[in-house]
Amino acid sequence: MISRRLPTILPDMTFEESLEVTKIHSIAGILSAHTPLISQRPFRHPHHTISGISLVGGGKIPKPGEISLAHFGVLYFDELPEFNKNTLETLRGPLEDKEITISRVNASITYPCNFMFIASMNPCPCGYYGSKEKPCSCTPDQIKKYIGKISGPLLDRIDLHIEVSPVKFDNFDNSKNTTDSKTIKERVNSARKIQQERYKNIGIFSNSELTPKLIEKYCILDTESKKILNAAFSSLGLSARAYSRILKVARTIADLDNSENIKVHHLTEAIQYRSLDRKYWGN
Ligand SMILES: [Zn+2]
Repeated sequence: MISRRLPTILPDMTFEESLEVTKIHSIAGILSAHTPLISQRPFRHPHHTISGISLVGGGKIPKPGEISLAHFGVLYFDELPEFNKNTLETLRGPLEDKEITISRVNASITYPCNFMFIASMNPCPCGYYGSKEKPCSCTPDQIKKYIGKISGPLLDRIDLHIEVSPVKFDNFDNSKNTTDSKTIKERVNSARKIQQERYKNIGIFSNSELTPKLIEKYCILDTESKKILNAAFSSLGLSARAYSRILKVARTIADLDNSENIKVHHLTEAIQYRSLDRKYWGN
């Protein structure tokens, strides 16, 4: 439910983005006659039985796959471990490169695929591993096999891991303590603006595009934060890739907080979002 609501808080698409998305959908032959120009960020949610070709693109006349149809929008996988392991691995390159080249005997075609990847999963086959409500009935081997479908390198490429506990029926009360999408979107837009301003002379738009060199320049930590990050790095056994992701996320949290510098609480929040490293691969 949360994933489906996500496009409502993403920044509005620019006209150039709309054109690019419309072109891809037109090439795929799925553009509806009623929408000459797509102005909403796409939300694609393929079934777990999806083939590699449908996901990344291909075929005799190479068509864009789901990753390209999700360009500038969201690609959502429900029940991540149900997907074919090899299919999941094909995501690694596109997540990094934001484009995909489909090679054929006579030619190769490159499609853009700059999407936000969201996936949901249970903690184990029965769904209760780590739950306070009910004991988990899975054997350690079953859990290992289930989680093992998601490789460390794929997990490394996901910025935020968040554990969500079951919501009690009584808590489904819309009237209290809720922030609506419009308010959240305003915060997102203002953080985006800060980033566009900061990077206006270097040809990138957002923190997610920071290269390791740029991270050194724009994600500066004070001495205390450095100590915390180093400690987290060794205790969670993080990869270099996870390390730079934490810094980029901390930079974004600081931007949402309208703070020029990354402070300790921005960094610790970003470290919190690596819960899967901790749960399954950490100590
Ligand atoms: Zn279980």
